[in-house]
Amino acid sequence: MGDSEALDAMREAARLSPGNFPLRRLLADALLAAGKSTEAEAAYQAALLLAPGDPEVIIGLAESFVRQGKSGAALIALESLPTEPRRPARAGIVAAMALLGNGDKAAAAAQYQQAINEDAALADADMAARLGALDTPPTVAHTPPADSQRVRVGGAGAQEDERPEEPILDAQRSHITFVDVAGMEDVKNTLRMKLLLPIQKPELFAAYGKTAGGGLMLYGPPGAGKTHLARATAGELGADFIDVGLADILDMWVGSSERNLHSIFQMARRRTPCVLFFDEVDALASRRSDMRGHSRHVINQFLAELDGVDDRANEGILVLAATNAPWYVDTAFRRPGRFGEMVFVPPPDAKARAAILEILCRGKPTTRLDMNALAAATEGFVGADLEGVLERAIETKLVDSIRAGYPLPLTTDDLLRAIRTVTPTAVREWLLTARNYVLHANESGVWDELLPWLRDVR
Ligand code: ADP
Repeated sequence: MGDSEALDAMREAARLSPGNFPLRRLLADALLAAGKSTEAEAAYQAALLLAPGDPEVIIGLAESFVRQGKSGAALIALESLPTEPRRPARAGIVAAMALLGNGDKAAAAAQYQQAINEDAALADADMAARLGALDTPPTVAHTPPADSQRVRVGGAGAQEDERPEEPILDAQRSHITFVDVAGMEDVKNTLRMKLLLPIQKPELFAAYGKTAGGGLMLYGPPGAGKTHLARATAGELGADFIDVGLADILDMWVGSSERNLHSIFQMARRRTPCVLFFDEVDALASRRSDMRGHSRHVINQFLAELDGVDDRANEGILVLAATNAPWYVDTAFRRPGRFGEMVFVPPPDAKARAAILEILCRGKPTTRLDMNALAAATEGFVGADLEGVLERAIETKLVDSIRAGYPLPLTTDDLLRAIRTVTPTAVREWLLTARNYVLHANESGVWDELLPWLRDVR
């Protein structure tokens, strides 16, 4: 395939996925390398709309200006480079080219010299000759340490640095909202009514004597999207998401697990509004009758933290939990104010599977996909399985794309082929297990939501 055909294919891929930033940048770089500076300028401008302030794109844009003889425009573009983190060394080379174009040889030489001091690989014999500058050995650039987003959790009232073995948790802004959760309209509506609206419209709920707070437990087969939903709930509120894994709490030293739990709640109380999410909560909240020794203490501590020392202790904290085995959870956790509500997160139906695939393919180069065919071929697949399908298809496509030299769009056939190689997580087995536990223990109607799913499973 010739260069111009490869460029055509990339133009087409970018046209089909206008929101795909890496693709736009790739196209712009390829246009610049092919000497098509005017078109490269337009492509960089389009990429900048998707990622304002991206240093590499700004430098590319400046270079496309220089190559069209627009030195002034190039220098203005370079001015807009963010000063933090450090300006990439290549910016100095492009600045030198622009300054040379403006006839300012001394300033150009200084820029060039500084750039190759930072990155000797940028040395260019042609430029050096034009500038009359000599290469000098590079000096070692200083890289400031990256800021860590992770937050340390100290023990209850303990000095933070004394116990290096204590859990380290991520408290992050969630970047996804309900728009990123395909299907599951019933579940989303429950979350809206039970969790979000009481916080967003407290006056309305107060009029009926209802206040915000308390928690909710999501249950269902693994990979069906419980964590994804919890994260999206935080995103809906613009709140921090604190993801607590079992390993963050359990401690081999008797007594430390309770302390870890307390530290985690204390951290959440300092960071309101936030969603505090406990994954695999059944392991932490198993029926007390099944437990002995210090596990019982952990459960009691967990209940005490959920209740708080007073009514307002957990204000602004939404406690969400997820489990694949809700029948193991001690009923004490289901009281109002604790995990008062159990919400079933079902395996996705055909429409939801198509919607999940739609979301997973968002922004990736694809042809028009036959979503009906894909949904039909993925009966029994949950979100995590569909993610696996897409990864598999992309891996294969990348090999082809590397060979072709440009990103090839994914097709329906690519995905159907990948589907055949992925074994779905056992939704059926989960439903059969659920049936064993639930059918004879539904006196209070707590499993009502689940019943229609259990009737037909064989
Ligand atoms: P669980 O917590 O139930 O085991 P996850 O929330 O970890 O499952 O889901 C696994 C992955 O599947 C998620 O990272 C997400 O990308 C995808 N996924 C699951 N359900 C959906 C959905 N409804 N919409 C979009 N993506 C989903």
